[in-house]
Amino acid sequence: MKKDFYDILGVSKNADTAAIKKAYRKKAIEFHPDKNPGDKAAEEKFKEAAEAYEVLGDPEKKAKYDQYGHQAFDGSGGFGGHGHMNMDDIFSQFGDIFGGGFGGFGGGGSRGGVRRAKGSNLRIKVKLTLEEIANGVEKKVKVKRKVQAPGVSYKTCSTCNGQGQVMRVTNTILGRMQSATTCPACGGSGQILDKKPANADAQGMIVEDETVSIKIPAGVVDGMQLKVSNKGNDAPGNSIPGDLIVAIEELEHEFLKREGENLHYDLYVSFPEAILGVSKDIEAINGKVRIKLEEGIQSGKILRLKGKGIPSINGYGNGDLLVHVNVWTPKTLNKEQKQFFEKNLEDENFSPNPEKSDKSFFEKVKDMFS
Ligand SMILES: [Zn+2]
Repeated sequence: MKKDFYDILGVSKNADTAAIKKAYRKKAIEFHPDKNPGDKAAEEKFKEAAEAYEVLGDPEKKAKYDQYGHQAFDGSGGFGGHGHMNMDDIFSQFGDIFGGGFGGFGGGGSRGGVRRAKGSNLRIKVKLTLEEIANGVEKKVKVKRKVQAPGVSYKTCSTCNGQGQVMRVTNTILGRMQSATTCPACGGSGQILDKKPANADAQGMIVEDETVSIKIPAGVVDGMQLKVSNKGNDAPGNSIPGDLIVAIEELEHEFLKREGENLHYDLYVSFPEAILGVSKDIEAINGKVRIKLEEGIQSGKILRLKGKGIPSINGYGNGDLLVHVNVWTPKTLNKEQKQFFEKNLEDENFSPNPEKSDKSFFEKVKDMFS
C-alpha cells in the first residue's frame, strides 16, 4: 500500500502550493543523502518526499490525485516513472525548489542541500635524491592529522537549522536581494558540536600521527606538488578530509647537473689523455658507464649518451646524459717537459686548426637546447 502523499509531506489537503513547497524543502533538507551518508531509510524518505512533491507541487496533478488517489498515475496514461524517480531527477528538481535565494543549492545540476565541509590541506616537503627522481620512489612520511576525537557527537545547527547556509537580505537599487552564505556557526556542515571528550579541542578534534605512504613517479621536478587525496585534516562533523600536498625538493647531486630531462657531467681529461685517447668511467645516474674518447679529442666536445638522463614525467622516454669534455692544461712542468713544449712551439701539429666540423662552443650550446 502506497503512503499518502499528504502524510509524507505532513501537509493538509487544503495546503496551497507555497505551503507544499515549504514542507518539501524541509523534508529534502532533513533526509538529504549528504547529511545521511549510507542511510538507506533516509534515502527512501528523501525519494518519497520528492515523489510526493512532484505530484502535489503541480496543481493539475494534485487535482487528479485528490480525485483518484495513486491510481491517477498508474498505467500508461498516467505520470510515467511514478514511484521510480532516480536521484538525478530529484536533484534536477532542486533548481526549482531551492532556486533564487538558495543560489548555492542545486544550481547548475550540482547536488543541492547541505554541503559537506572539507578539512584543511596539510603540506609537507619531501627531499629526493636524483637517483630517486630518476627511478621513482615510495616514501613514507609522518603527518599530524586533525581527526574527530572518539566519543564526539554532533547536533543540528540551530543557526541555520541544519541547512548549512543562511540567508542574507540586502537592499539594492533593484529592490531587496536575497543571497545565501555559508552558515557562520557551523561552517556549512549543518551540524555543531554536542558532546566531546576532555582531550579534544573546541571543535571536538584531536591531532593524530599517521604514516602516509606516497608513491612518487619518476621524473618529478623540484617545486612540483603532488596531492594525496583525503590525507589532510578532517573537519568537524560529517566532513570530507582535506588533502596532503607534497612539495618535491631535489637534492643536489655530487657529479650530475639536471636540466629538464637531460643530465650534464663535466669530464676532465689530462693533456696526454686528450692527445692519445682514453677510456673513462662516467658516474651516470644508475651506476658507472664507460666511454671511449678518440685520440686528439678537443676540449669542449660534448658526448651525448642517449637515454641516460631522467625519464619524462609523462612517460615519453628518457632524457640524455651529456658529457662535457674538458682538457686539463698542466700548470707546472718539469724542465724536460718545458723544453719539449718550447721546441714544439712553432710546430704545425700543435698549432690550432679547427675544422668546419669542430663546432664552436656557442654553436654546440645552441644545438643542445634545440
Ligand atoms: Zn549552521
